[in-house]
Amino acid sequence: MNSFQFHNPTRIVFGEGETRRVAELTATYGRNVLLVYGGNSIKANGLYDQTIDLLKQADIEVHELAGIEPNPRLSTVQKGIDICRREGVDFILAVGGGSVIDAAKAIAAGVPYDGDVWDFFVGKARIQKALPLGTILTLAATGSEMNGNTVISHWDAKLKRGSGSPHIYPKFSILDPTVTYSVPRNHTVYGSIDIMSHVFEQYFSLTKNTPLQERLCESILQTVIENVEPALSNPNDSVARANLMWSGTMALNGGLISVGVHTDWATHGIEHEVSAIYDIPHGAGLAVLFPNWMKYVYKERIDRFVQYAQRVWGIQRDDRTDDELALAGIEATRAFFTRIGAESRLADFGIGADQLDRMAEEAVRYGEIGNFKRLGQQDVRNILEMSL
Ligand code: NAP
Ligand code: FE
Repeated sequence: MNSFQFHNPTRIVFGEGETRRVAELTATYGRNVLLVYGGNSIKANGLYDQTIDLLKQADIEVHELAGIEPNPRLSTVQKGIDICRREGVDFILAVGGGSVIDAAKAIAAGVPYDGDVWDFFVGKARIQKALPLGTILTLAATGSEMNGNTVISHWDAKLKRGSGSPHIYPKFSILDPTVTYSVPRNHTVYGSIDIMSHVFEQYFSLTKNTPLQERLCESILQTVIENVEPALSNPNDSVARANLMWSGTMALNGGLISVGVHTDWATHGIEHEVSAIYDIPHGAGLAVLFPNWMKYVYKERIDRFVQYAQRVWGIQRDDRTDDELALAGIEATRAFFTRIGAESRLADFGIGADQLDRMAEEAVRYGEIGNFKRLGQQDVRNILEMSL
């Protein structure tokens, strides 16, 4: 294990009914708030009305930025920055899934920055300060509620890029599993696959002397696997929703489960190129790509994939070779994704071969990607081609 520092400053307020604490938590940081949210989901489930009422009762001034897109766009972030500057906003409250939270983080970083906020996403500038932000999470998926990452799409340029900074960790995140009862079937599936993918990006690169990190990863994967189907068959299953929600936060919260080791993130990089052009849900793209990444790279360190098959999927060795065991684990992953209803091919989204070269080129714009196996442009193209 390498030396490491771990510091996660986000206060998590978890539990049924904890959304009622929003005003008290917000008032610690500001009194002139930008409320950021997506489409209609928080109006349909009552969270919008409750939040507005509580903030107003506490004499907190509220400005609103509605309509954050899934795969949030730079143009919408810029609108938010304008509102904050014009209205002297001192705190941003994101109520939504990863897209809403990521947009809020980009707005928070953009307000005190003189240049174009996109600079943070193309390596032209680093985030040096940001407005404080807090969140009410409504969808178990990204971990954005407890990390310093943000992913934004530049729709005109067909680019999707991430940025990160200690300055954009939320000050607090309220995690009330009952808020996720209204998440539709497809987003329950995609969110769960995103959680598993965050673990994959860290798990396979782990080295032999990190048994704690390995077991943390395996336990998150198993918890998600055990809880997705109960949440699908009964969307109001409080136990399943709570466990999915906490799994999402634990999977990507500043690297807790992979401290002291290199991580991969190649598949996320490739997925961003797909959704940058085709605007498909992030978890849907990962469901297609991840088993193909696994097949492409597993021989690099087959012991990791043997362990995955045995410990996560409970596959017995019997008379299988290492190669057969590794492949059985990969097949189990694909079969699970299919069983819960995820698509398995890019063609399922009407995506053909015409943009493969561009996606492969953009994925390696800043050099080879991944750590488990370094991937160049041709490797990325091969994985995309396997996914057609
Ligand atoms: P999302 O894009 O935030 O939301 C997906 C859909 O779910 C939206 O249509 C949303 O509707 C709906 N929804 C959310 N909560 C709901 C609820 N309680 N009831 C009913 N519908 C609900 O999904 P996400 O997977 O959380 O975020 C995806 C984005 O995060 C992608 O851009 C991805 O690249 C990025 N990402 C970020 C990180 C990170 O660490 N920052 C990590 C991985 C991925 P409304 O718009 O109506 O709310
Ligand atoms: Fe992700």
